[in-house]
Amino acid sequence: MPSQLIDPRRYEEVDLPIFRNEFDAFLPATIYDCHVHVALPEHRGPVTREWITSDWPNEVDYRMSVEQLAEVQAKLFPGRQVRSLVFTMPSPKYFIEEGNRYVAEAIRAGAADGLLVTRPEWSQEELLRLLRAGSFVGFKPYPGLVGSRADDIPIEAFFPPHHQEVADRLRLIVVLHIGRPERLRDPSNLREIRQLATTRPGIQLIIAHIGRAYTMTYAEPGLAALHDVPGICHDFAMNLNADVLELALREVGPERLLYGSDLPIALMRGVRAHEGDRYINFSDGDYSWNTPERRKTAEEEARYTLYLYEELRAFRTAAQRVGLSSEQVSRVMGANAKEMVETAKQGLSRL
Ligand SMILES: [Zn+2]
Repeated sequence: MPSQLIDPRRYEEVDLPIFRNEFDAFLPATIYDCHVHVALPEHRGPVTREWITSDWPNEVDYRMSVEQLAEVQAKLFPGRQVRSLVFTMPSPKYFIEEGNRYVAEAIRAGAADGLLVTRPEWSQEELLRLLRAGSFVGFKPYPGLVGSRADDIPIEAFFPPHHQEVADRLRLIVVLHIGRPERLRDPSNLREIRQLATTRPGIQLIIAHIGRAYTMTYAEPGLAALHDVPGICHDFAMNLNADVLELALREVGPERLLYGSDLPIALMRGVRAHEGDRYINFSDGDYSWNTPERRKTAEEEARYTLYLYEELRAFRTAAQRVGLSSEQVSRVMGANAKEMVETAKQGLSRL
């Protein structure tokens, strides 16, 4: 496993100047990242080349220890106090139980707060046992952990009612990654999110990646449909679209929008274009999807920074367009999530 996840030369030449010029005056003193994956090489089982190339994030380096996370954050946010909500990789290719134990160790050591990646088949007793053993402040259910590989996976299939009941009673955080190809504009997803938020108001619900609405064609109908549902938060992890973030600031508001990075995937270097329903990743990395038509000139590629910084650039642009105060920026960048974690810890103490 590489000890340095960020190339030191490119950090000095590209990333650090961006931090100084664009983020230093913009970012608050304390930051809370609500969407971080930690995984050791031994947490992943055997994978085929076919699986690796089946979806672009599978090709990005997934390995990041808790110690490396601390190093990465110190580099990316010099002079800032950064804390994270971490969870293991929710994928059938990973040893979820071992990953959860690793996160529990980080929680015990005080290095991070953490979520339990849940298997839908677990009983309520099993869920409660794991919660107690690990002091997780909530759950990270995932559609890909449902046995079937169908595209049409209802929320209840991966986050079943007997898991919802525990989260609701204890006011736990649930980072919900929605499935289905139509994402945040899928009528079934919208109906199910509305139902979940209304019938389980104790759950501190965070829709991951703004419902995977990376383009306006998903974000406009999706956010409008959820506009009147109270209490739903969104994280904008790996959402690099300033128009979408601006819309989210207007529709969701700075009290319910949360910074999340999706580290270590966000360490990929490059830029993203948005075109209709599509987002197109550009990178200089050694990925099978990085075909010649995706490549730019050597000069342009030399200027590529991390996706995480591109995400922050998009957020800064959106914040400027909306006219966010520095207090509102600090809510999005951490204060909102910190409050939610505190609430969940109080709930956990009743366990
Ligand atoms: Zn993620």
